[in-house]
Amino acid sequence: MVSKRLREIPASGTVSISDLVSHLRAQGADLISFSMGEPDFVTPDNIRDACKESLDAGFTHYTPSAGIPELRKAVASMAFSNNKIHCTAQNVLITPCKHAIFMTALAYLDPGDEVILPDPSWVSYEACIKLAGAKPRYVPTKFDENFIIDPGRISEAITPKTKMILLNSPSNPTGSVMPYKTVKDIAKIAIENNLMVLSDEIYESIIYNGKHFSIAAMPDMFDRTITISGLSKTYAMTGWRIGWAIASESNIKEINKLQTHSISCCVSFTQPAAVEAITGPQKEKEAMVREFRKRRNLAVDLIREIKGLDVNVPKGAFYLFPRYDSKVKSDILCTKMLEEAHVAVTPGSAFGPSGEGFFRISYATSEDQIQEGFSRIKKFMLSL
Ligand code: GLU
Repeated sequence: MVSKRLREIPASGTVSISDLVSHLRAQGADLISFSMGEPDFVTPDNIRDACKESLDAGFTHYTPSAGIPELRKAVASMAFSNNKIHCTAQNVLITPCKHAIFMTALAYLDPGDEVILPDPSWVSYEACIKLAGAKPRYVPTKFDENFIIDPGRISEAITPKTKMILLNSPSNPTGSVMPYKTVKDIAKIAIENNLMVLSDEIYESIIYNGKHFSIAAMPDMFDRTITISGLSKTYAMTGWRIGWAIASESNIKEINKLQTHSISCCVSFTQPAAVEAITGPQKEKEAMVREFRKRRNLAVDLIREIKGLDVNVPKGAFYLFPRYDSKVKSDILCTKMLEEAHVAVTPGSAFGPSGEGFFRISYATSEDQIQEGFSRIKKFMLSL
């Protein structure tokens, strides 16, 4: 009875592993999980207090479908001050980040359209593209090039059916950060070929080296770009499901049509808290990024001590994407690692064909867990 559309789509690789980890832990398993891309910190107090206040004030009804005006305005000001995207509240739609990606695919892709995206890239892009009836066209990125997408390879992948380029910098799963010149060259390609760009910038604040550049801020790019970001990773707010899309007013109206027919609006009482997150003190956010940097350095050092693994030092996000020296397929390797070493990681193949031979580690967890997890991985790799 299941639709043809859905039959082709596997469940999310990242979410499935995380569900499995919860299930095994509930049965008493002593697991170390590097699976889910989720900060282990608790959302800062000022943000939780703002949420409690809005609940106590009875702010528990529908909001305008595109979000409360104060939050749309706060997001627009932040997008201008941090990323030089010239926009106003009317250019912002408040919605969970993943839903924004899903709605953008439904709003702009027709059956037969092609979307160019980096390989490897996050597990749900391919699903969203296929659910809209379109085709993903992967452009390989390479370990030896720090997984930075090559604009020349994007040009080669363009066909008369190409409708959109999908970007994600800092990248999940590789942690690569696109330099200015790459962003500029891709903007040129998008303009010359009249393509839209979906730019997922959810890790924009988690950068250790280099700087984040929004493609929507490049000349003549705003009207053809949908920029997506949110609070989940920056403020440890994954469970709140709150983010946004930034685009031209007419694009926001179109995407919002889908919002009115799906979730109606984002959860009401989280929205004033999101205003507090963006406009309130930023010290805790900065401390979290400092902590992620320490963990990245520790995890890279520990991986480099393990024979059979090789890793780049990522410039952003909180993932490592090590290459392993074995012919075993990554999904089999990761299942074995879970069963034998009790460490959960995500197989590289979940992120696209170029991810085969790699696995992803989310190091958004404590230093103790990192130490213990890598000592287990070390023993496991020796046993292979
Ligand atoms: N984006 C995170 C990850 O890749 C959370 C899970 C998901 O949405 O896929 O682990």
